[in-house]
Amino acid sequence: MEYVKIKNSEEQLPIGKIIGVGRNYAAHAKELGNEVPDEFPLIFMKNVSGLLHSGGEIIHPAYSTELHHEVELVLVIGKDIKDADDESAENAIYGYGVGFDMTLRDLQFSLKKKGEPWTLAKCFDGAAVISDFITKSEYKLKGNEAISLKVNGETRQNSTLDKMLFDSISIIKFLSSKMKLEKGDLIFTGTPEGVGKVVKGDLLEGEIENIASLKATIG
Ligand code: MG
Repeated sequence: MEYVKIKNSEEQLPIGKIIGVGRNYAAHAKELGNEVPDEFPLIFMKNVSGLLHSGGEIIHPAYSTELHHEVELVLVIGKDIKDADDESAENAIYGYGVGFDMTLRDLQFSLKKKGEPWTLAKCFDGAAVISDFITKSEYKLKGNEAISLKVNGETRQNSTLDKMLFDSISIIKFLSSKMKLEKGDLIFTGTPEGVGKVVKGDLLEGEIENIASLKATIG
């Protein structure tokens, strides 16, 4: 079983499902030639067995030539909820972290073209990397924190959380209207523009201001 690591806490929170939000920054949707979702966020799942903690090594899948980095705000859910309103959605957030939603872009394009689900582009060993989390009692999210990612020291993604089309509360309200959210679920909230390819030997460093930083290497 995998656990969320929480800063300044001995609590061991077992990880439930991992949900991803796609195209949640307009400039990123545009860079991949996609339409911006207007009414509802785009939702997909990631595999819990693909989870790595900060400092881990992502083994580049041999069947892909385009492994991409996506740095994201990750929410951890602290209580079971269904059909949340604004208040219960806010109360359901246990804390915040930084994640890499690693994506096999070549597979994603070919799956999209065929009208098939993105599953194999988003689920593989090392597909989700997470930092330690900070609880809401330790840090109150302002919503405009800087989010960035460097590859080998060079900045590739650099934005702020207020560019998210659907904020944390909207995402939780929407998701919980479709499926029960449970304590320990993780939600990857989407990536800003600047995604790109990484290769064996690369060092990825992600950060969200005041929340956490995250590192991984490509093996
Ligand atoms: Mg993503």
